[in-house]
Amino acid sequence: MISRSAHSAAVARRFLAAGALAAAVAGAAAGCSADGGAEGTGGGMTSKEATAQAAAQSGAEATGEIARPTSSSGASTTSSSETPTPTPTEVPYEGTGEWEYALEASAPQGDGAPFAIAVRVEKGLPVEIDDTADFVMATLRDERGWQDLDGVAFELVSDESQADALVSVASPQTTDQICSGLTTNGYTSCREGNQVALNANRWLGATEDFDDLTVYRQYVINHEVGHALGHAHEYCPAPGSPAPLMQQQTLGLQGCTVNPWPSVA
Ligand SMILES: [Zn+2]
Repeated sequence: MISRSAHSAAVARRFLAAGALAAAVAGAAAGCSADGGAEGTGGGMTSKEATAQAAAQSGAEATGEIARPTSSSGASTTSSSETPTPTPTEVPYEGTGEWEYALEASAPQGDGAPFAIAVRVEKGLPVEIDDTADFVMATLRDERGWQDLDGVAFELVSDESQADALVSVASPQTTDQICSGLTTNGYTSCREGNQVALNANRWLGATEDFDDLTVYRQYVINHEVGHALGHAHEYCPAPGSPAPLMQQQTLGLQGCTVNPWPSVA
């Protein structure tokens, strides 16, 4: 398991060193979708901005891999004492490919257009399904979230075929498989089609920029579901500003401060 993970990380590092910038500059493939969303640049980024952004992201992404290897130590969670709710549990790179679904339904609340969410966790991960579904729904329904901004009302459904977005907490390998059209490198999460895949290592360990695991989880849910709602990436407007929710905060903050809510920035 470890050797496989180490191999993957090495592959990822080689890719990051050699290809990430070129791929990002070439188009939306890496620079604008590594953290999710297959929608490309969204029309808001010029080629010059894309180039600058790609450079920034390439560096940040490489730093993230180096700073938080998910392979050699095995332990995906932080060794820092800054995270208040660390889960010092090893998450294997390979998943079981089997799923546990949240089976309780919860009707939409409010007048917005219903937007159905299904939640599942890959079996074998140290992640409890009902707690996860509760957290996902509480985050999406938070008054600082998308509901009022986008005129939607999130509901929880147990049947994934009825879901507008299927949220999966998955092993790195399975996340990469779900996100196969994107560049997740066993590290980031993504939205592709109606799938939102959350890398379990980030779910349990966040990144070094986030010292609060709850805030990171709120960020990644709102960011990836934001893609499912049609939102494209944004960029840090100025150092010291709250990062736009749709900034790829997993890959670095570009001088901004962490922010998990679309109503803030
Ligand atoms: Zn994204």
